[in-house]
Amino acid sequence: MRAVRFTGIGKPLEVLDLPDPSPGPDEVVVKVAACGICASDLHMMDGSLPVRTPPPVTPGHEASGVVAALGSGVTGWATGERVALYAGKPCHECPACRSGRVESCLAPLTLGVDYDGAWADYVVVPAGSLVRLPDEISFEVGAILADCVATPYNAVVDVARVGVGDRVAVFGIGGLGTHAVQIARISGAGFIAAVDPLASARHRAIGLGADMASEPDGAVAAIRAATGGEGVDVSFDFVGRNAVLKQAIASLAANGRCIQVGVSGERIELGPSILFAVRKTTLIGSYGYRRDHLEQLARLVATGRLDLSRSISATLPLEAAADGVEALETKRGDPVRIVLVP
Ligand SMILES: [Zn+2]
Ligand SMILES: [Zn+2]
Repeated sequence: MRAVRFTGIGKPLEVLDLPDPSPGPDEVVVKVAACGICASDLHMMDGSLPVRTPPPVTPGHEASGVVAALGSGVTGWATGERVALYAGKPCHECPACRSGRVESCLAPLTLGVDYDGAWADYVVVPAGSLVRLPDEISFEVGAILADCVATPYNAVVDVARVGVGDRVAVFGIGGLGTHAVQIARISGAGFIAAVDPLASARHRAIGLGADMASEPDGAVAAIRAATGGEGVDVSFDFVGRNAVLKQAIASLAANGRCIQVGVSGERIELGPSILFAVRKTTLIGSYGYRRDHLEQLARLVATGRLDLSRSISATLPLEAAADGVEALETKRGDPVRIVLVP
């Protein structure tokens, strides 16, 4: 089979011919139909995302496909079924795993980072990571449910618990932030502000349900002006830069909560402690998503409640993976998601 290989920081991606994989007892081979290119992939390749397992590895953690082969111990699945993939598996070594609570694993392994991912014709995953993909959902959209939609879904719905009427500000309208705007909207947010330096991203946010959009310069003042001077109840940092986090916190009303989703190696600075305390600010980190979030999202998309028809910016063959990575890195064409289709 063909597979895109990441062999080391600063080295070009290679497309290699590898042996077709076979499943272990509790594993499934999935014929990949689509797999997203994500900022996390860029972070792995430039070394800013620390990895436990050194390369080479096949990237790709936002995938969908068709069940191609079942391990000897797998029940409840048949070849030919359409699936999306939860992108993690338990370590089987941490205290939680050893006590049988693998769903609470303290050190889960990530598909496409710690084990071979889906920028390939086939991928091997634990049967427990499969999620049924309804016929109404295309493989391209099914692929990006993992991470690109599920990570903001977790942040908005489970971590921030955005409720009906809440005022929300989303900082960083890339792949994840775009979907955060949509999910805040269907969660019943009463006001949504979007902040991004790119005019095209701001335009997209307005088209998907944001009530206002601002460039970073003057964003806090604009959000305060639009909320009668109060600020928002919930803000999201989808960038992971301190300059953005500061703005996300400064845009909060009293008792507001800021959700940190974007990641970088930068140290977090929160400004004067007196302001943080007096305004009773809450700062919460949010990372990844749960497998059942994919099932919830599949329902929301299949029933038309969540429209992801504008989320696939381009589809590329495996051989063009490096070009897709470059397009995301330079934001060429301001992509929401570029998807590889083997
Ligand atoms: Zn991702
Ligand atoms: Zn574990």
